[in-house]
Amino acid sequence: MSGLYWSPIEGLQIAMDGPSGSGKGTVAKLVGEELGLPVLDTGLLYRFAGWQTRQAAADLSDEAAVLEVLGGVLPKMNWRVEGIFFESNDCTSLLRGEDVGGLASQVAHYPKVRELLLDVQRNIALSGCVMDGRDIGTVVLPDAHAKFFLTASQRERARRRWAQLHVKDKELSIEQVADELMARDERDAGRECAPLERAEGAIQVDSTTMRVDEVVDRILAILERKNLIQAV
Ligand code: C5P
Repeated sequence: MSGLYWSPIEGLQIAMDGPSGSGKGTVAKLVGEELGLPVLDTGLLYRFAGWQTRQAAADLSDEAAVLEVLGGVLPKMNWRVEGIFFESNDCTSLLRGEDVGGLASQVAHYPKVRELLLDVQRNIALSGCVMDGRDIGTVVLPDAHAKFFLTASQRERARRRWAQLHVKDKELSIEQVADELMARDERDAGRECAPLERAEGAIQVDSTTMRVDEVVDRILAILERKNLIQAV
């Protein structure tokens, strides 16, 4: 990265959407660090919702049952830049696995679940942030100052996700990760409510053959061109 210091406009909101393994989480974190903006991973909210539903042994295919679980647990949840806290305990590391990602995408297609989580996301974004997810540019922050849609080939996304997860689970095969990723992508892009899609005006960055720092530099250059950040 350039080594420059950047000053963002007040309240700058950057939406970063894309499928699993597209690198949006890593890129969002680095862009946030460069600009001194909070970075918010909305996937954690859906992961928390899916995980809690499983913990409660409730039926994932029953929207009312999922909503009942969430009604009980959301008041005790705290979502911050550092992760998700439940009853003051950091449960972020429990939410990162691909199994929980699958649970998340099963509850994420329910309109009322999304509605419940919408205000949580909008309120926290008010003073500026980099927010990553699937529907940030389309639904959560449609007026964001800048929108990006990150992609990468399916093969590369599976490889990246496997590299992340394999550290903790040596038994995990890349084929298994690729299958789960594909199933999740299909569910996320195919659902009726807030599907994964490029928002109007979002700039697409295909990172298949790019290094992370190159993607970050490209995004910073675009933000500078739009006069949203300034080198100081
Ligand atoms: O980004 P991450 O892989 O953690 O997201 C887990 C799941 O949560 C996604 O596959 C998707 O189903 C759901 N999600 C969503 N909308 C968001 C963020 C995540 O539907 N803004």
